[in-house]
Amino acid sequence: MLTHTEIKKLIGLTLAEGESRPVQIKGWVRTKRGNKQVAFIALNDGSCVQTIQVVADLNAPAFPEDLMKRITTGACLCVNGRLVPSMGKGQSVEIQADSIDVLGEADPEVYPLQKKGHSLEFLREIAHLRPRTNTFGAVLRLRHEMAYALHTFYHERGFYYLHTPLITASDCEGAGEMFQVTTLPLNQLPMKDGKIDYSQDFFGRQTSLTVSGQLEGELGAMALSKIYTFGPTFRAENSNTPRHLAEFWMNEPEMAFYEIEDNMDLAEEFLKYLTTYALEHCGDDLRFLNDMYDKELISRLEGVLKTRFERLTYTQAVDILKSSGAKFEFKVDWGTDLQSEHERYLVEKHFKRPVILTDYPKDIKAFYMKQNDDGKTVRGMDVLFPQIGEIIGGSQREENLDKLQRRIQELHIPDKDMWWYLDTRRFGSAPHSGFGLGFERLLLFITGMTNIRDVIPFPRYPQNAEF
Ligand code: ATP
Ligand code: MN
Repeated sequence: MLTHTEIKKLIGLTLAEGESRPVQIKGWVRTKRGNKQVAFIALNDGSCVQTIQVVADLNAPAFPEDLMKRITTGACLCVNGRLVPSMGKGQSVEIQADSIDVLGEADPEVYPLQKKGHSLEFLREIAHLRPRTNTFGAVLRLRHEMAYALHTFYHERGFYYLHTPLITASDCEGAGEMFQVTTLPLNQLPMKDGKIDYSQDFFGRQTSLTVSGQLEGELGAMALSKIYTFGPTFRAENSNTPRHLAEFWMNEPEMAFYEIEDNMDLAEEFLKYLTTYALEHCGDDLRFLNDMYDKELISRLEGVLKTRFERLTYTQAVDILKSSGAKFEFKVDWGTDLQSEHERYLVEKHFKRPVILTDYPKDIKAFYMKQNDDGKTVRGMDVLFPQIGEIIGGSQREENLDKLQRRIQELHIPDKDMWWYLDTRRFGSAPHSGFGLGFERLLLFITGMTNIRDVIPFPRYPQNAEF
């Protein structure tokens, strides 16, 4: 019995004239064409973007008409045959079939991916089947490769992977943006003094899905020095934009003894490492996406590697934007949060390279960021990328207990929930820094896709959670 081989292992092999090898492959039919004598079947198994050509001699008794009728686009086949050099253009080898089993039919009357060239919008409506398209095959393979490269990057640098909880009782970061987690009966909530009695809930308190693993990440960094988290994150913001999901993957490194400059260096090295990895290991998928969707994709990836990211302060950026004469939908003023149109102006028009902005007004950033001596700004940093805007948000953290507590009071954050976090500053506090990378934002950059719903297998966004 032959064991089956991935198509990836066969594509690109070269055989001498007259040479052949027995092979078995399994995969899904992309196309079938031919005539009365011979059928050419393009088979793909998702191991790579390429298909392999299967040739069936219709005069042979192994391929009766009723079998061939069942071989339609989308059907799943097991092919036994011989790998031989190909005469055809665009492939070095093909398979001369000896026998074909139809493992699963796909009725051409109803199979939604009968034709090529569906719009990405249409494919979003059949997200359960879109992994079978070339585009989503390429995107999902790249997603895997980037996750692998991410772990490798940190592991090689002595970071430990810390698993932070998805269910959390702290809501200091995501007021109003969190999905609640409860086992209380929603049609008959237990009440006490006019309020919901969460003491009867599963955890004995109100809980939600996490919006970030950072606070727990800091606990890890204060013991292991360098940690990173990588997992799902949830935000109930009603964000119908091409850059927001309700469920997305975030990677958050957190490092003791790092100041803001070290943090920026790490972020830049990390993004360049991932980009290099994609160019070096995912060439076929990148070329496919480059040719199909975005002719500048590969040159944009290469461009990021060549330059040093531009570093400037928020205040300097606001000055540039104000004196640019450019027309923006949202007005820029010191103290307001930058919109993605402003971020993209800086990156794409002004500097023509990635940008790291630092020292943001304290009122538009989170309570834990280290306060500068000016009393107005904090040591936050956002990394801005072409096409995307913010890809990373991070900061040096406030390590001083008094300053941090004062800020928590100013912002009326209920400090009964914060005692465990503040313990890091009470006991053996240290300068430390970290950042959050939106994994899907990274994938937008790497794949050249323009909608974040197209770089995650099963996107979650308002009104959408079917599959
Ligand atoms: P934005 O202003 O773009 O909404 P943010 O300031 O809310 O981002 P952070 O809270 O700093 O973002 O989160 C860290 C990173 O997570 C961001 O830099 C971004 O890459 C990513 N991110 C944030 N919100 C989302 C979302 N809803 N969907 C996908 N990625 C997100
Ligand atoms: Mn946001």
